[in-house]
Amino acid sequence: MEIMQTENRVIVSGCGPVGAVTALALVKKGIPVTLIEQLPDAAEDQRAATIHTPTVEMLADLGLEKEMFSDAPSGGMAAPLFHFRDRATGELVAVFDINLLKGEVPYPYVVQWEQYKLVHAALPHIRASGLGEVRFSSKLIGLSQTEDHVEATVGNEAGETEKLRARYLIGTDGGSSTVRRLAEIAFEGFTWPERFIKIGTSFDFGATGQGLCTRNYFFDPDEWLNLFKVKGYGPPGIWRGVLPVPESESDEEALSMENIQRRLQRIYQKSGDYEIPYYALYAVHQRVAQTFNKGRILLAGDCAHVNNPIGGMGMNGGIHDAVNLTEKLADVWFGRADANVLDRYTRQRRTAQIDYVQAQTIENKRKLEERDPAVRRKHLDDLRRTSEDVTLHKKFLYRSSLIDSLTSANAVE
Ligand SMILES: Cc1cc2nc3c(=O)[nH]c(=O)nc-3n(C[C@H](O)[C@H](O)[C@H](O)COP(=O)(O)OP(=O)(O)OC[C@H]3O[C@@H](n4cnc5c(N)ncnc54)[C@H](O)[C@@H]3O)c2cc1C
Repeated sequence: MEIMQTENRVIVSGCGPVGAVTALALVKKGIPVTLIEQLPDAAEDQRAATIHTPTVEMLADLGLEKEMFSDAPSGGMAAPLFHFRDRATGELVAVFDINLLKGEVPYPYVVQWEQYKLVHAALPHIRASGLGEVRFSSKLIGLSQTEDHVEATVGNEAGETEKLRARYLIGTDGGSSTVRRLAEIAFEGFTWPERFIKIGTSFDFGATGQGLCTRNYFFDPDEWLNLFKVKGYGPPGIWRGVLPVPESESDEEALSMENIQRRLQRIYQKSGDYEIPYYALYAVHQRVAQTFNKGRILLAGDCAHVNNPIGGMGMNGGIHDAVNLTEKLADVWFGRADANVLDRYTRQRRTAQIDYVQAQTIENKRKLEERDPAVRRKHLDDLRRTSEDVTLHKKFLYRSSLIDSLTSANAVE
């Protein structure tokens, strides 16, 4: 069957950071896109903020450099340093400096740029391309495919439905993906018994004399902590703490203002309450889809894999999927490659996930929460030794920045 003009497009379902980057990468390659999102507008999602070195390069290549490095609150903050600390003693165990990779990578730092700011930066470029249509209040509720097209059923808030056809559909609709479910793709892995709480405060932990940098990881058997700074809505910025919530604590208890204040007072005891612009509780999973391509249906981002946020790898890995997938899809689209190349997308990106992102984030969590004092001491000593030896330090940076994951995955045939 010949594909009609309006069907000569790719549908991207879900306008989070991965959907927005996927749509942008496609229109840049000359492929028409319809990006659908169930919400009435792009969500102000306060989850991811750390953009690793290779991802910064990818976003710059997509034309987002100006927005990413803008001095305005909508832009990001370059941050080359990260610290590991022992929470009980306050000991600064190790300082890592991505600047050591200067000359080896174009952007030797992470950029702290909240994920919703990235989405807001990408959307005008998608629209301005003349090839990208963005539809909000459009929820994917049905999906089928034939040999030469996909058909998506999309519903709006009024309960009306519409059928959209396309040559391919990419699911970027997050961890509880409808696309993955309708395509009957298994999501293998497990869910941690504890949940993670994220608390944002405008209180400046950087001015408490503890010598904190922009990204700080604290070891603690009872309550490990990730404490990071973002620009937020402008000066003085927002510090975000991410901490574990034990299985025994109910959601209601964890989200009570008393407990939220108590958690912050344990980070730094101060008089009066903390001002708290936002907080949220998350269930945490480690799962990878059995395949990232099934016929004309493709998966990317959290739709394809989820992991705990320690190390900031979820969205980064999803953006790496988007860049890998759109290159291959463009080759198929313009007749430069056979559709089998999409199997290679799955092989490459599942390798990146399983061998690196899943393995690393599980190891990061286990180390931060280690209960045995002798084992914890060993982790701390190893980290210090690693940071003090230039060769080991750089090796650590290559792995933690996901550069190794990209190199290994891209070498998979
Ligand atoms: C506390 C915390 C901190 C984190 N920090 C980092 C970090 O620093 N760095 C990092 O790399 N990762 C981090 N992550 C992970 C990161 O937030 C996710 O990996 C990222 O949001 C995934 O992006 P996505 O676009 O794939 O999915 P999502 O951001 O979940 O977006 C999916 C979109 O699809 C839409 N949607 C869902 N269903 C439908 C449907 N049926 N039809 C249409 N639209 C639909 C949703 O409304 C949503 O807008 C963190 C996570 C947490 C919990």
